[in-house]
This record gives sequence, structure tokens and C-alpha cells, in this order.
Amino acid sequence: MTGQSLEQTVGAAAHHAAPASESLAALKGDAVLGLTDEEAALRLEKYGPNRLPAPKGRHPVLRFLSHFHNVLIYVLIGAGLVTALLQHWIDTAVILAVVIVNALIGYIQEGRAEQAMAAIRNMLSPHASVLRGGHRLTVEGEALVPGDIVLLEAGDKVPADLRVIQANNLQVQEAILTGESLPVSKQIEPVAADVPLGDRKSMLFSGTLVASGTARGVVTATGKNTEIGRISGLLGDVQTLSTPLMIQIAGFARWLTVMILLISLVLLIFGYFVDHFAFIDVFMAVVSLAVAAIPEGLPAVLTITLAVGVQAMARRNAIVRRLPAIETVGSVSVICTDKTGTLTRNEMVVSAVVTSAGAWKIGGEGYAPRGEVEGGDPSTLEALSRVAALCNDASLVEVEGDWQVEGDPMEGALIALAGKLGVDRAAAEAISPRIAEIPFDSATRYMATLHRADGGGALICVKGAPERIVEMATHQRAANGTAEPVDARFWQQVGSDIAGQGMRVLALAERRLDTAPDVFAPAVLGESLVLLGLVGLIDPPRAEAIEAVASCHKAGIAVKMITGDHAGTAAAIGRQIGLLNPDTVLTGADLDMISDAQLQELIERTNIFARTSPEHKLRLVTALQARGLSVAMTGDGVNDAPALKRADAGIAMGRKGSEAAKEAADLVLADDNFASIVAGIQEGRTVYDNIKKVISWTLPTNAGEAATILVALVFGFALPMTPIQILWINLITATTLGLALAFEPTEKSTMSRPPRPRNEPLLTGGLVWHIVLVSMLFLAAVYGMYIYAVDRGYSNEVARTIALNTLVVLEIFHLFFIRNICGTSLTWAAVKGARFVWFAVLTVTAAQFAVTYIPAMQEIFGTAPVSLFDGAVIIAVGAAFFAIIETEKQIRLRAGQLRAGGHQQAAGP
Ligand code: ADP
Ligand code: MG
Repeated sequence: MTGQSLEQTVGAAAHHAAPASESLAALKGDAVLGLTDEEAALRLEKYGPNRLPAPKGRHPVLRFLSHFHNVLIYVLIGAGLVTALLQHWIDTAVILAVVIVNALIGYIQEGRAEQAMAAIRNMLSPHASVLRGGHRLTVEGEALVPGDIVLLEAGDKVPADLRVIQANNLQVQEAILTGESLPVSKQIEPVAADVPLGDRKSMLFSGTLVASGTARGVVTATGKNTEIGRISGLLGDVQTLSTPLMIQIAGFARWLTVMILLISLVLLIFGYFVDHFAFIDVFMAVVSLAVAAIPEGLPAVLTITLAVGVQAMARRNAIVRRLPAIETVGSVSVICTDKTGTLTRNEMVVSAVVTSAGAWKIGGEGYAPRGEVEGGDPSTLEALSRVAALCNDASLVEVEGDWQVEGDPMEGALIALAGKLGVDRAAAEAISPRIAEIPFDSATRYMATLHRADGGGALICVKGAPERIVEMATHQRAANGTAEPVDARFWQQVGSDIAGQGMRVLALAERRLDTAPDVFAPAVLGESLVLLGLVGLIDPPRAEAIEAVASCHKAGIAVKMITGDHAGTAAAIGRQIGLLNPDTVLTGADLDMISDAQLQELIERTNIFARTSPEHKLRLVTALQARGLSVAMTGDGVNDAPALKRADAGIAMGRKGSEAAKEAADLVLADDNFASIVAGIQEGRTVYDNIKKVISWTLPTNAGEAATILVALVFGFALPMTPIQILWINLITATTLGLALAFEPTEKSTMSRPPRPRNEPLLTGGLVWHIVLVSMLFLAAVYGMYIYAVDRGYSNEVARTIALNTLVVLEIFHLFFIRNICGTSLTWAAVKGARFVWFAVLTVTAAQFAVTYIPAMQEIFGTAPVSLFDGAVIIAVGAAFFAIIETEKQIRLRAGQLRAGGHQQAAGP
């Protein structure tokens, strides 16, 4: 089948204009059973995977050439031309070698960074719920084929183009396709054939988001045959490797380059006309000054630093969706987290049931529908277990004796409960098939289903938060089986008792009707709803979350729990998890009563927010930000999107989270685990530190090199290194040593210092001072060694070689110093550190031996062998330099500690 496949149309009409049944028939789909696995496999073969072709990258040659687009490279190419005109061939060759190697290294590194980012994007590929062989299962979005029956609910991203075959209050946000930002409602009835895309209400289009309601649809087109595939040919979201900080630094680097070029020009004129150097000498000196001073490699190294950080986070299950987040994540000072599934394991078991007739204890492990039921006569629980089984969208599957849930774990636990009480979900469904439903909504906190009752009439099943159900119910099921007026006080008390033990509480209710209502709306429920009883579900805290909360407190990060659960449940779990002040709880109702000003007063002391709806999250983020805090907020539902967008770091749940929440988030947790947030913050802090380290190493090193040449030019001294030697240093050391810092592991103190203040500038006074200090020391050491060599009567070549090696040794010592900006560098662990540093140091050392001792290299670079004794002197000078800056750092750290009252605050270099 090629091009426009047969299945894309129904006879002559398009899917949107034909009745749903005809569409289904044309696609050979089955609305009840779905495709069989074999048929799906065949169709996958025929139509290919449901994905859009990857965005085409730039051609490799273009990408390589783009690395020549750089002011420094232009300067070098110009210099190469001038030296060629003057027939200084060796200079020309070296300059060209520098240009090419520089571009090559940039090209390889950028390619690696891009690959890393692409791999991470793939981790976020969406999933879809489908019917296959009569079962509902979750498959990769790519596995969908035409004819598949897809189930959708609020927050889902439509995974392919679908013809609607069932819709409940379905609203879809189609902005990416039509530009229309308001959700549009969808229906089963066909529309006219010639209506535009935005009016095809009987169709759901790939890439759009379900804003509310539920639906079923049959896949009409996949991959590039979908509407989105046709207009764009690719799925947007191509990340550029850039963040605000990077842009700021690149801007700074550009400014610096222009300044340096101007200074170089002035020096060229000055050296030629005032100092009367030979033109080629001044010219080469000025070019090497420019090369030494311009931080051309900085943006590239920082990009690598970011990519390394993104990978490190992904390894720890925190997937970065938007690169700038990596900067903000490191500065988070308060985490607002969901409870269920994030702090707890979301492995639920019903362990208590209370009705008017008594209380039951339920035994059994996991989701197996078997277990002891202790208490009164279980036969009185029949109605309750029927509601548990029917008002339910999950299913249980047994895989090698292990029972697993497909869907919401809490609903899975209810099916298991029903099983323990002798009610099988499939059997109950067969007797009372579902006609309609009101899906669970975290704002209303209940869910209801309408069924045909056996023996005629209709049955409504409701489950939800007890306060809500008790308020809606008019009656309760009495011990003798009759209905009596509801005793709200009794049930509230029972609810609080169960919640106080850290259990999640749910109320179950039913209503019987003679005829099914035409419209199934909330108003229908309240008329004579009969409360059947409450169930308590255990959801144990995650052990690693307890540790993670403790490490947050150590790192100066506040942790707040925001949950839709009962205040009692929230407080009990909060206590188990180690939250501070677990007895102070603000509920959604409290929040609605207090003003923003009052909220700001209470918010820092309060760590538990219960019975909240998603809108409260937005209010909490805003209040925390108003207190100057940097907020990380988690979310999973479609209504959480505004809060996630507003937060400094919006974090979505990768497993149970909706696509809508993921799209709004900066970070996605692959395992929904609170501990991964903390791991992400740690990596975020590490990346920021490493960015700081790269800058703190590069700028002073460049300044030191430049100062050496500058002094020679201005005062008319002999150059302690030739321009070619300066080029060599820049080529070898700047790329290897600087890059090593991008791979620096987390420092030990990283999670025991307070978060960095919001908007802390990168170029602090401390850094400027460090630049001045280090360049002065470089200057003194390099000139000192040069003069020492000249004094001992060495040849000019040997003296220069000594100066050259001194400079490289200083850079290496400086590297070790920078690796530990917050602690001491003088510990074995600090020196041992990462493999990458040693690799870089060994490479540079080998290169220095080569340039010093290999005759061919000596020929090119004008070097000469250095004696063992002088080598030792060079290293001693390096060690002395290290001792001086380390002492200076320790004095600064101690002074900072005194001022900060014991905090191990980073004074930074
Ligand atoms: P959480 O913050 O723990 O994720 P939710 O918003 O999921 O809170 O749930 C809040 C309350 O809504 C629960 O305590 C429960 O009483 C009720 N609830 C949750 N899920 C369902 C559901 N699928 N059907 C009915 N009620 C539910
Ligand atoms: Mg929830």
C-alpha cells in the first residue's frame, strides 16, 4: 500500500464525514476487543511505526564549516595570510594547524553533546492505552497501527489521528494544529465533508491534548500520514544547546574579543612605530596576544558541561525537558511535592473496611485478589464490593504468579478487595455493563459510573473522598440492609480515624434507579445516594524518600507536601517521611479563606497542604516566590500545568503523569520518585559549580598568558615565549585541561551548603580578584623563570622552553586548585578525583615532553631540551604557586565562615 492508503477514507467519504461505525468497518477495527496482537503486528509491518521522521540535522560538512565562523579563527586566518605573504612558512603552517585542529575538536565535541541530548529526548517518548485482544494495555505510541482502538482521558496527548467512537464531555486543545488556544468539544456524530480541520469534531488529531473528559477512538492514520505529520513533517521541540546563562557568557566572550582586538591593534601600532620592533615580530606577538586572551573555547566547553550535566541527571532519572532548567534546578530552595507515588510507593492495599454494620480487617499481599477478611459477616459487604469493582477503570493481570495493575494502583487495590470478598470484576461488568461515567477529577475528588442493572433499571456507583461523598449522600446502608438517613458526624469521625493511621480513605456509595437517566451529570447523583461504607488503603512511604528529605534539610532546601488526600493521612505520612512541623496542616478550604498576605505569613512554617485542588498549587508557588524562594513543584494531572509552568522548576511524573503535565514541565522524573528530584538538584548544583569552575580556570589562565605578552610589548622586553609557542599552549592546554572541568564529579560539600541565591551573578567580585591574583602570579613566575634561565647563561631557546613549561605547569596546578572551589584541595580524595582530569594532565604532560625533547618539534617551535634539575625547579615553582593560592583560599573561606556564622558558604574564587 503506498501513499494515501485505502484506510484513510471510508468509501468515498473522509472519516470525519462518515458515521463512526462505517469508519470502524473500513479500518477493520473492533470497538470491543480491539485488534489481535497478530493483526497489529501485520499492520505495523505494512504501515510502519507511528512516528514522525526525525528532524533533519544540518549536513555534517556545514556543521564542520560552522566551526570556522568565529572571530578568533578569522584573526588566525588573517594572520596566516600575512605570514604567508612574508614567506614565514613555518608560522603559516602552525597557524593553519591550530585553525583546523580547533575546528575539528569543536566539531567532535558538539556532535557528542547533540547525541547526548537526542538520546535524552528519546527517553520521553509517549505511551498510549489501547485495546488489544480484548485487553486494555499500555503500548509505546510508536506501536499504534490503523484500526487500533485507543482509550484517552484528560491530560493525554492524542497519539495518532483518531475517529471518535465514544466521548464523554470530551474537550481537546488543538492549538498546535489550528492555533486555537481554547479547548474544542468533540463528538461521535459525523460532520460535513468540506469543513476545515478545526471543525472536524468527530476526529482527534495526533499531538493535540485532551483537556477534559474521556474518549475512545479508532486510529485512522499514523506517523507521517497524520495531519500534524503532513503539515510539519517533523515533531518540533528541537532543543538548542543553550540557556540564558550560556547566552550571557557567549555575549561576554564576544565583548571581550572585540576589546582584545582593539587593544591588539593599538599595540601593533605602538610596537611598530614607538618601540620600533620589526613588523613581523610585533605582528606575531599581537596575534598571539589575541589568541592567548580571547576565550574562544569557552562557549564550547560550557556546552559540553551542560550536556554532561543533562546526562548525569538522566542517569539518575531526572530528565531535562528544557535546558535552561538545569541552571534553575541547582538553585531550588523549596520543593513542593505530591504525596501519592512520589513520597509513597503507590502500591496500595485495602486494609480496613467500615460500614454501619461493623469494621473489617483485610489481609493479603499486593494485588492478589485473595486474602483473609476478619470482622463481621462478609456477606453484608456485597453491595460495597460491587461498587469497588464497577466504579473502576483499572484491571489486574497475573504475570507468573505476580499480580500487577494496569491503571490507577488505588483502583487496582479495590479490584483486589472485591476479589477477596468474592466479586469478580469481569463478571460484575458482564451483569451490569457500564453506560456512562463521570471521570475522577482532582477538583471534585470523586468518580461515578452508570450501569444497566440486572433485572432492569439502572445502577449508579460512586467512589471518592469521604467528605465529598458523605455530603452528597442522602442515606446510608443500615446494618439490616435497609436505607436510613446518613449520619454525617459518624462517618467524618470514622474517616479521620482511618486517615490518622496514615491510610488513604475512600467512600463508596450507590444509587438504584428504575430507568437510566438520559444525561449522566453530577446532579443525578445527589437525589438519593446511599453511602455503603469507607475503605482505608495503606500506601507505605518510600524508604529512599525519607533519606532524600533529610538530605534536603541538610542542603537548606525546604520540603512541602501538597496532596489531595485527607489532612489526617497527609499528617501521618508527613511524620513518617520526616517533614518538619507535621502537625501544622493547611487544607484547601483553609487556603480559600485566607488572603494572600496571610498565606505568605503562614507558608514558610507550614509544610503540609491537604485536600488541595490543582488551583491551590498555583497560589502556593506564587506565595513562595513572593518570599524570594526558588520553587520546584511536582505535578501529574492536566490541571497542574499552570503551576508547573509558573514554578522555577516544574517537575512532571514520567509514569503516572499526564502528557499535559509533561509538556508544561522543565523536568520529568522517569521513576516518579522524590529521591530523583533531590538527585537532580544535586546534579544541577554540580553543573553550576562546573560552569563556574570552567570560567574560573579559563579567564585567569588567559589573562595570565596575555599579561606576559602585554608586559613584553609595552615595556619593550624580550618575549619570554615565541608567538608560535603561545599558539601551541592555547591549542593543547586550553582544550584539554579546560574540558576536564566539564566532567568534574560532585564535590562532597555540594549538598551541605545552602542553595545559591536566585540570580547570583557569575562574574562576582571574588572572581575578578582571583583573575587579578592569578595573572599577576603567572606573570611573576614566567618572567622569573625566564630571567633565572638567562642569568644562568642558558641560550634563548632553553630560556623560552623553561618559560613555556613553567606556564603549562602553572595551568595544571591551577586546575587542581579550581577543582575544589568550596573545600580544601589538599586531600587525597580531592587530588584523586575524576579519571578525566588525570587523562587531561597526562595528555598535556606528554605533549610538553614531545615539544621539549623531540628534535622535529624543537625545529618547529624553537624549543630546546631542559635539564632534569631545571624541570624540578619548574615544578617547585608550580607547587609554590599552588601553596600561595590555596592559602589565600583558606583565609577567605575561614573569613567567610566567621561572617556567615558557621555556614560553609562558598566564597568562590
Ligand atoms: P494525591 O495528592 O494523593 O495524588 P488525589 O488528587 O489523587 O491526591 O486524590 C485526592 C482524593 O481523591 C483521594 O484522597 C481520594 O479520596 C480521591 N480519589 C483519588 N483517586 C480517585 C479515583 N480514581 N476515584 C475516586 N476518588 C479518588
Ligand atoms: Mg493522585
